[in-house]
Amino acid sequence: MLRRADQGWIEVIAGPMFSGKSEELIRRVTRYHLARVPTQTFKPAVDTRYAERAVVSHSNLSTEALPVADAAELLSNVEDRTVVVGVDEGQFFDDGLVEVATLLAGAGKKIIVAGLDLDYLGRPFEPIPSLMLRAEYVTKALAVCHRCGGPGLFTQRVVDSDELVVLGAAGAYEARCRRCYDPTEARQEELAIEA
Ligand code: ADP
Ligand code: MG
Ligand code: ZN
Repeated sequence: MLRRADQGWIEVIAGPMFSGKSEELIRRVTRYHLARVPTQTFKPAVDTRYAERAVVSHSNLSTEALPVADAAELLSNVEDRTVVVGVDEGQFFDDGLVEVATLLAGAGKKIIVAGLDLDYLGRPFEPIPSLMLRAEYVTKALAVCHRCGGPGLFTQRVVDSDELVVLGAAGAYEARCRRCYDPTEARQEELAIEA
């Protein structure tokens, strides 16, 4: 089978927090970079947890990344020569990310998106689910359940209601397996805040 060098596609790395999504994204982008294939990595401007212009994993791997406000700004910053486009924290982008990824793949680029597929209440976290349906390659990453060591596929929010934070501050979230995950824990906190 013949594979053209300019064949584009979409890869998605989805899973809960601590499942190694950023680590895997960094690994995939870096190996192209080392082989002198032009790469660019982006992240949403809201995610400035560890570094302004880098993607950093919980295991402290990192790669340079450009913060952008939305999918449109991402698209306008992709250079013609770029072959591999990495995107971290894809769940913080607008739905336009699906269209942008489709466009880039159609233009012969390999776009690799990492992101949460479920929010902390266990609901689909768009645009990752929609992107997964349109991707050639989907990796479902699992963490180790912080409570029992089982397969962690959920992100449990564990902070007190008055400490609620949007981004993953240390200690605010845990990976949990099916048995240990309890979304009502978080819902009760949410209801307490609204009241
Ligand atoms: P993600 O981007 O999915 O949040 P990262 O790639 O940033 O994940 O971090 C993955 C790393 O986090 C692992 O290699 C490991 O060193 C560390 N880690 C901490 N807690 C856990 C856990 N409960 N399960 C798996 N890895 C964990
Ligand atoms: Mg990450
Ligand atoms: Zn568990």
